[in-house]
Amino acid sequence: MIPSVLPTYNRAPLTFVKGEGAWLTEADGRRFLDLGAGIAVNALGHAHPALVNALTEQAHALWHVSNLYHIPQQKMLADKLVEHTFADTVFFTNSGTESCELAVKMARKFFYDKSQTERVEIITFDGSFHGRSSAGIAAAGSEKMTKGFGPLLPGFVHIAFGDLDGVTNAITEKTAAIMIEPIQGEGGVRPVPDRELKALRQICDDNGLLLILDEVQCGVGRTGKLFAHEWAGVTPDIMMIAKGIGGGFPLGAVLATEDAASGMTAGTHGSTYGGNPLGCAVGCAVIDQVATPAFLDGVNRKAGLLRQKLEGLIADHPDVFEEVRGSGLMLGLKCKPNNLDVVNAGYDNEVITVPAADNVIRLLPPLTLTEDDIAQAMIRLEKAAKQIESSLATA
Ligand SMILES: *Cc1c(COP(=O)(O)O)cnc(C)c1O
Repeated sequence: MIPSVLPTYNRAPLTFVKGEGAWLTEADGRRFLDLGAGIAVNALGHAHPALVNALTEQAHALWHVSNLYHIPQQKMLADKLVEHTFADTVFFTNSGTESCELAVKMARKFFYDKSQTERVEIITFDGSFHGRSSAGIAAAGSEKMTKGFGPLLPGFVHIAFGDLDGVTNAITEKTAAIMIEPIQGEGGVRPVPDRELKALRQICDDNGLLLILDEVQCGVGRTGKLFAHEWAGVTPDIMMIAKGIGGGFPLGAVLATEDAASGMTAGTHGSTYGGNPLGCAVGCAVIDQVATPAFLDGVNRKAGLLRQKLEGLIADHPDVFEEVRGSGLMLGLKCKPNNLDVVNAGYDNEVITVPAADNVIRLLPPLTLTEDDIAQAMIRLEKAAKQIESSLATA
């Protein structure tokens, strides 16, 4: 009999009932160190006082009114995002997937309004992830995500990850945009080198294309800058965000330049919930915490420490780990045994990591991780590695 919850997930046999900082309490009382943060969502950890206050204060005042009316919290969060980024304007969604939908629509409408109606194609990359909607799975294009769900939304051209010549060769009079994650998350924590991101910006400029960055996972302080593209010194025309911006409240956004957004006039797009008072009150609290030099310095300092210790872990356990990659507190450990076995060994030792493609486990801890938490992370990852080694020895 089908379960009451549609069984589309492979869930770990864990049920968490409480969280505080980087720690989660399981129903049986065990405490787990959370290096997954709900897949890079709990940017400020669990039950951060500033977020709890923002949410409960707003909950007592007003939850939802719809976008038929002005929403001061939405305007406040948009102003903050505009102040801190390349963007001139922001649309709020409830998820990364919805941000992807708007990014695609915005790019197509941009060229439609310029009477370049043939320009509808978006270049994307193998291993990418842009959500599970019809546009999102067509954008990613992998068989794993698309099989059985055809006909797929047309208009996406897939290029091998890192193949800049492939990008140049794929550009035709139909190309509208290039869409890319500065660091692939689901794809296995694969960073796009700064020089490649710069080259993509140049290719867009040379060919009159829009550059769409998907910072749903790598954005909001995760890499030690507010947004990952800042490391490369380039800016996109359109950027999708979600995950960290809500700190656990379902919130996403599309940020754009005035020019890129010029086609999105009244009536062209909308959302019932997107940007509601509750979500935006929380989003404001997240940005107020994260978008300060002191906070981002802290992320970089902790990231440096964690990475250095992970290099040591790899050196001590060459049969378990191959390399560490990523940026800031978005790190991937490439595994030698099956990555799911490593994640499970972590569960056995009360540390949570997240699997990704390319046999990688992801470390996406709360950005508020402490040095004590890092010490605990290393003790637990070490134990997990030893457990794997002894199982390899007996196999
Ligand atoms: C998670 C993710 C999405 C989809 O976001 P949802 O909130 O799950 O819809 C899109 N792009 C990237 C890069 C992601 O990591």
